Amino acid sequence: MDLIGIKFIDQLELAEKRILIRVDFNVPLDENQQITDETRIQAALPTIRYALEQEDAKVILASHLGRPKGEVDERLSLKPVGNRLAELLGVEVLMPEDIGGKFVNKLISDMRKGQLMLLENLRFEPGEKGGSPTFGRTLSELADIYINDAFGTSHRKHASIYHVAKYFDRNHKAAGFLIKEELEQLSKLTDSPKSPFTAIVGGAKVSDKLGILNTLVERVDNVLIGGAMAYTFLKAKKVEVGNSLVESEFVERAREIMVKAAHRGVTFHLPLDHVVARSIDAQADEVTTTPGASIPRAMAGFDIGPQTVDLYRSVIAESKSVFWNGPMGVFERKPFATGTMDVAYALAKSDAFSVIGGGDSAAAINAAGVADQISHISTGGGASLQMIEGKELPGIEALRANYPFEF
Ligand code: AMP
Repeated sequence: MDLIGIKFIDQLELAEKRILIRVDFNVPLDENQQITDETRIQAALPTIRYALEQEDAKVILASHLGRPKGEVDERLSLKPVGNRLAELLGVEVLMPEDIGGKFVNKLISDMRKGQLMLLENLRFEPGEKGGSPTFGRTLSELADIYINDAFGTSHRKHASIYHVAKYFDRNHKAAGFLIKEELEQLSKLTDSPKSPFTAIVGGAKVSDKLGILNTLVERVDNVLIGGAMAYTFLKAKKVEVGNSLVESEFVERAREIMVKAAHRGVTFHLPLDHVVARSIDAQADEVTTTPGASIPRAMAGFDIGPQTVDLYRSVIAESKSVFWNGPMGVFERKPFATGTMDVAYALAKSDAFSVIGGGDSAAAINAAGVADQISHISTGGGASLQMIEGKELPGIEALRANYPFEF
């Protein structure tokens, strides 16, 4: 990953400036709008604190939350996040209803020390997700400095990630500390990974991960496949997979990936056995383990079996670098969580430089209670995959580009 041309927040002159920080406050809320996991708020604090410490700086935070359809949805208001921030930082958090415009600009010019502003959910505006340059400009008019610290959304060309950055030159825009850490850690895997390098890839669909699998087989020594995507690969090898989830239209692509891996001398492991049931809702006593790779007709696979866990454990133990994205089974349900948990424990035990590519695998690592034994847990699933694939993230590209618009 080429970091040339990107500035970080501690390289900019921030005193007396209005600083717009794009953070990732996309936290889970329960039905009473209570935050159920504040990891993302905590992760944004170092950058926010740093900005607040700058003399006479005015700090404006912007984020999305959930998936409102380009219109106001009170259930997805950022107010609970603002209230929690006020507690965590001991500041007053101003939360205007409008996202840009004259009123908000006036509120910013009247801001005093000890105050912070949190804009309402950016996705209440259709222009955010739609990638509207006009909405990007509206946001840019609120500030002198633009900081992007929302790594998990930086693979999207959304207005607050991409277009807004067009209105700032390189002395007035930068990445925050969270993105800095992500880039530094993930580039250890893209630039000079220690060998043997193992990729563990799971999850529901091969189709979602074709790009990453194609790239990974050019870079790694071993691939360990789990989750429902394993059945599309097994089908390509003409193994009977019963009623398991298979993407029939991708069987050929799956086969091509395995051929490519074989040509390159990459060991491509598929599950040797499975935890199967008649339905995903099966109770623990309705679940069995297959003796081998094939699955009886009336059954479907929902987790990797114990022989597979043993094999994957031994490959992980011998690895020096590991990247993991996607669960090994339907880990949300206890009868099918063992494979994913056992992979989490194996990774925790290994001495390898280990990176978890966000999302479900990060949730599994947390559920297993081993987060502190992992080298880096990325805050972005899609964004970390795109980086490992060697693709530039739009949010990073936009920080690199200089005014007047290089892109
Ligand atoms: P992804 O978003 O592609 O990483 O997929 C994650 C989802 O895949 C999780 O919700 C899992 O429950 C689901 N999943 C994993 N293994 C299976 C399986 N064998 N059958 C059905 N769903 C699965």
